[in-house]
Amino acid sequence: MDPSLTAPLDESRATLVRRARAIHRSLGATYPDAHCELDHLDAWQLLVATVLSAQSTDRRVNTVTPALFARYPDPAALAGAERADVEELIKPTGFFRAKTDSLLRLSAAVVTDFDAQVPGKLEQLVKLPGVGRKTANVVLSDAFGVPALTTDTHFIRLSRRFGWTQATDPAVIEVEVGELFQRRDWNTLNHRVIWHGRRRCHARRPACGACPVAKYCPSFGEGPTDPKVAEKLVREPRG
Ligand code: SF4
Repeated sequence: MDPSLTAPLDESRATLVRRARAIHRSLGATYPDAHCELDHLDAWQLLVATVLSAQSTDRRVNTVTPALFARYPDPAALAGAERADVEELIKPTGFFRAKTDSLLRLSAAVVTDFDAQVPGKLEQLVKLPGVGRKTANVVLSDAFGVPALTTDTHFIRLSRRFGWTQATDPAVIEVEVGELFQRRDWNTLNHRVIWHGRRRCHARRPACGACPVAKYCPSFGEGPTDPKVAEKLVREPRG
């Protein structure tokens, strides 16, 4: 390996880009099947699932969405739903009263303002109640195939650990990380980074000694470096 790729302090812009892309490739080899872990069939289902995923796990969301979508298959149906019924259906995801409120307002706005179709542009999506930039980018990226970086908690933590950015503002991180990669690679980057964050590069005790990108990572040593100890920290979650 090129030793310059391990030297993030005062590294040149060109080296930073090469190191970032080496991490992307290595994560791709480790997680060849990385994909959105929220089950969905279309943009509407993904939008709803993403709202439900706040303060929850994808796995838990996936346990409630089949019944929710069976009962309320489109924005018009959900906009006319009984609040208590929706609350009961989504209860396992937590914060169910606030989330029900969001879903009812969101579905009504999609019906009223966008002819019951989820819009495919960032500036339209963020006008919907309860839809922030991150949720909008998830929908753009995974439902519409538009290049967009989904700066969730994992993406932010790992981007900073990799030395891709020092920023804490997700909008700034989006720009700074986006500049290191070709736009066509943004959507695969989202999934690979998020999968790595869920499986190895945990917020607490990252599995540094069992990490495929350790040789490119300036934060190596934030977690146990002993391979036997680190291996025990590797998780295979769905959500
Ligand atoms: Fe995360 Fe450690 Fe791997 Fe760096 S070496 S990416 S901090 S697990």
